[in-house]
Amino acid sequence: MFKLHACCFPVKGAERSLIYDIQRGSYEFIPNDLYEMLINYNSVVEIKKSYDNQVVDEYFAFLEEKEFITYLDGDFPEIDLSFRFPGVVSNAVIAVPEKRMFGFERVIGQLSELGCRDIQLIYPFDVKLETVMEDLSYLQSFKSIEIITPFLDKEHEIVSLVKEEKRIAYWLLHSAPESRLMNEPYYGIQSVFSTIETFDHRVRCALRDESFFNISMTLFTEAHHYNVFYNGKVCIDERGEVQNAFWGPTFGNINETALEEIISGNFKDIWLLKKDDIEGCRECEFRYMCPDNRLDLKESCKYNPYTMEWK
Ligand code: SF4
Repeated sequence: MFKLHACCFPVKGAERSLIYDIQRGSYEFIPNDLYEMLINYNSVVEIKKSYDNQVVDEYFAFLEEKEFITYLDGDFPEIDLSFRFPGVVSNAVIAVPEKRMFGFERVIGQLSELGCRDIQLIYPFDVKLETVMEDLSYLQSFKSIEIITPFLDKEHEIVSLVKEEKRIAYWLLHSAPESRLMNEPYYGIQSVFSTIETFDHRVRCALRDESFFNISMTLFTEAHHYNVFYNGKVCIDERGEVQNAFWGPTFGNINETALEEIISGNFKDIWLLKKDDIEGCRECEFRYMCPDNRLDLKESCKYNPYTMEWK
């Protein structure tokens, strides 16, 4: 009897399949007939009664080499693919206004009450380091903070601040004289980096290639039930308008209505739009690792699961 390790999930696409190796955060392409073997059989002897023996031997040599399978009598307990989040809002993106048009502290308080613990602060205008530091002082209940500012000629101070404040996942300085990493990241996070590129939060960054994909247990389980880009996300622009994304419609203004009320209606529709509900995506092998952020589904994805090509 062969058994796929519980953290290795075969996912079928229109023309090819994938094995998601959740524990390693990687994946391997497999042909769809191997997918069928993995789903429908648990014995190589039985498979060989229906398929070419040499092909079966090659497939299983590959599965062994990649450590996807083991041979045993008995079962691994299956991993529970349900997804729960202990709050209403999981992550927020705030375009911080140049002059405080909405009560920053009040908004942070509302997000916190809704369970939000991950936040991204985008400063669309030139900002002083002292202002960012003051804003950080309101974020005591948050566990992960991302910061995007125009270039600030304060490299030493920013690097020291990020080293000190472990909750800062990264600090991106755009419109800089040069593109470079300014510090030694701590286990891949807490990086400070500059880019010569400009940054406009209102412009959607479309999925371009496989480097956009992300494999983790959280994302894999969430993708079975929700849209992983939009689920739990709240964006608040410089005027206090609440949106699913800065390139989408607004649902109300934080200056006039409580956040909980604004997001209680249609706002959440996109949260529920999982890839299995979208034509094309439901036959895509990448659908449980894909952070596609389209709001208008008439716009096609750059990946075509029927030709297996990127535009
Ligand atoms: S948007 Fe859909 S078709 Fe495109 S890569 Fe993601 S799951 Fe596949």
